[in-house]
Amino acid sequence: MVDTSLLVIGAGPYGLAVAAYARHRGIEPTVLGEPMGFWREHMPRGMFLRSGPDWHLDATNVHTFEAYLAERGVDPAAVDPIPVDLFLAYATWFQEIAGLHVRPQLVTALRRHEGAFEADLDGRGTVSATTVVAAPGISHFTNIPHRAVAELPPERFTHTCFLTEVDRARDARTLIIGGRQSAFEWAALLADAGVDEVHVAYRHDTPAFAPADWHFVDPMIDQTVAVPGWFRHLPADQQDAVAQRFWAEGRLKLEPWLTPRMPESVVHRHPRTEVTRCVELPDGDIRAELSTGDVLLVDHVVLATGYRADITAVPYLADLPGLETIDGFPVLDEHMQTSVPGLFLTGFAATHDFGPFFGFVRACPAAAQIIVPELARLLEARAELSGQSR
Ligand SMILES: Cc1cc2nc3c(=O)[nH]c(=O)nc-3n(C[C@H](O)[C@H](O)[C@H](O)COP(=O)(O)OP(=O)(O)OC[C@H]3O[C@@H](n4cnc5c(N)ncnc54)[C@H](O)[C@@H]3O)c2cc1C
Repeated sequence: MVDTSLLVIGAGPYGLAVAAYARHRGIEPTVLGEPMGFWREHMPRGMFLRSGPDWHLDATNVHTFEAYLAERGVDPAAVDPIPVDLFLAYATWFQEIAGLHVRPQLVTALRRHEGAFEADLDGRGTVSATTVVAAPGISHFTNIPHRAVAELPPERFTHTCFLTEVDRARDARTLIIGGRQSAFEWAALLADAGVDEVHVAYRHDTPAFAPADWHFVDPMIDQTVAVPGWFRHLPADQQDAVAQRFWAEGRLKLEPWLTPRMPESVVHRHPRTEVTRCVELPDGDIRAELSTGDVLLVDHVVLATGYRADITAVPYLADLPGLETIDGFPVLDEHMQTSVPGLFLTGFAATHDFGPFFGFVRACPAAAQIIVPELARLLEARAELSGQSR
């Protein structure tokens, strides 16, 4: 059995950022998960980031994405928008430079045992840990519009989380349900790949194709780090205003570089439209009924319908006694510690209490700065106690 003072479950941006900062502060972590697994396996190949070059993983502000580019003599303006592979290369560089050895193993169960944690690894061993930071991301939280696809065999529809490549035979005529960035990004990727017909159906107006400007987030992140519990202590109307601002930038805008990739002859938009029912016809076509009364015949349905938090859907947290939740999110203290002492949760799971920025890379350094000092304090207290009892 491996014994560690800190187990980090998840090796996406948040897991790597926290693990690197813990190591910087003298806490040697054990890190489990597929390094940037969500980005490699659940984001479309050929995708571009919505975020800019100033977003990075390093709480010490040294090994930034911009530093990575500078070391290679690359002008940030030359990589705008940023290809996903470039950010992945940065993350690999960051992991190496931070000296993080990530074990690509999944945790199947987590339990408290004699004041510590025990994590089972997919059939191969156990890790015992004094403290745990979990950064599960969003892949466990896919939101499925059940009414629309209830009658379809499962192989006829795919959530964008499980879609990475275009299959031209299967996707020749595709209906995309949803009308935000990932819906239109897939429309563009399908059109790029030369599919015949793409329909995008969504209940709202068509968002504006305008560049997002995320700089308004910077002072909020600074506040989050400087003032413990800053977001959670804001009055409800101010929290709503932050969420609205985020919504306006992220959801009411689409990246303008998508527009030329979506010829109207291929990509057909259906704003203010709900897909009410999809059925498979005897000849294999999918018949999709729209709330406008229109009917479409397609070969595949893509669900760009986003994510909805349900922390009990994370396999290793589902049966953990004492883990309190609210609206599917974990209840956290000011250090992102859950109601299970010594267990911290970060990333999207922390957005309810810490603000929407924690669903994005921008807040990775902040998460590390919030969690790691408290981890250090807990571990010191633990060491003192065990010293006294000897
Ligand atoms: C299409 C798309 C585009 C996006 N574009 C951007 C963007 O441009 N900029 C941006 O900032 N954000 C973007 N995001 C959001 C992005 O997902 C988050 O910023 C980021 O991935 C959150 O990091 P994370 O570490 O919390 O989780 P993830 O990146 O999801 O990492 C989860 C980690 O947990 C591991 N894991 C899962 N289950 C287990 C288990 N049982 N045991 C051990 N490990 C496990 C995985 O292997 C992985 O290492 C995008 C999201 C999507 C869906």
